[in-house]
Amino acid sequence: MKIFIDGQFYAKENAKISVFDHGLLYGDGIFEGIRFYNGGVYKLPEHIRRLYDSARAIHLNIGMTPEEMTQATLATIRENDLHDGYIRLLVTRGAGGLGLNPYLCENASVIIIASTIQLYPKEKYDHGLKLASCATRRPAPAALSPSVKSLNYLNNVMAKVECLNAGADEGLMLNEQGYVAECTGDNIFVIRDRVVSTPPISAGALNGITRNAIIGLIRDELKFEVREENLTRYEIFTADECFLTGTAAEVIPGVELDGRDIGDGKPGPVTVKCMKLFKASTISCATPVYR
Ligand code: PMP
Repeated sequence: MKIFIDGQFYAKENAKISVFDHGLLYGDGIFEGIRFYNGGVYKLPEHIRRLYDSARAIHLNIGMTPEEMTQATLATIRENDLHDGYIRLLVTRGAGGLGLNPYLCENASVIIIASTIQLYPKEKYDHGLKLASCATRRPAPAALSPSVKSLNYLNNVMAKVECLNAGADEGLMLNEQGYVAECTGDNIFVIRDRVVSTPPISAGALNGITRNAIIGLIRDELKFEVREENLTRYEIFTADECFLTGTAAEVIPGVELDGRDIGDGKPGPVTVKCMKLFKASTISCATPVYR
């Protein structure tokens, strides 16, 4: 495995960064998770755009143009001779002092790892995930904006600990007002009476690239209404169907919340259609790696 760090490729065992990097010391940095399928990168421009939005929001100068970042991402896949897999792209504040001051970090560090990912086993796609509500809330927008895909995932990690300890697969995270925001690593959708609903970004959901792709596919292909509206746990308990979306998880059914079946406790027909539609769309919305 060859890993890109600041313009050069390193073998896995030599891919190292400074212990003074503020990404490590303070979680000061941003990232993207990106998928490539059959030699094409899925929604690469969208991921690059979100990365640069995150950078702007935390006042981080990446030191590379979006075009250079795009080329570095493609080059990393080529260097590893991969056709299907997952990219983890990180930009850290870089090495600095032990104090918080980010302006003492001279250069951001860019790390690109091309690998594979299997977030959930196949049987979870066939039978669905069990969800559990978490006491850990999504941060309020006036704290760290939940739209920033930052290296600070500790509150999601705490929520994940809660849901795993409760015997569930994924954790449902609410915002400070008690409305559903998303899950620890995925956006959430519910379906009732042919209407699909998902929390708005303003409820504390990440502006998920899979979420946006699925909203488009449902509107264009299934001709169902999609609403971005505040949801509470009640709307999930009483939904006909539920599914989650994310780059790593793709589209995966949610069949239980807090020990109660959602719908009949099995992946629903609309969910299954969305899973198929998503799979088909990964072929068409791709930036070719090998020309
Ligand atoms: N919410 C959170 C908290 C995430 O970390 C992610 C990405 N894993 C998502 C939602 C899904 O976003 P995307 O579809 O862009 O991967």
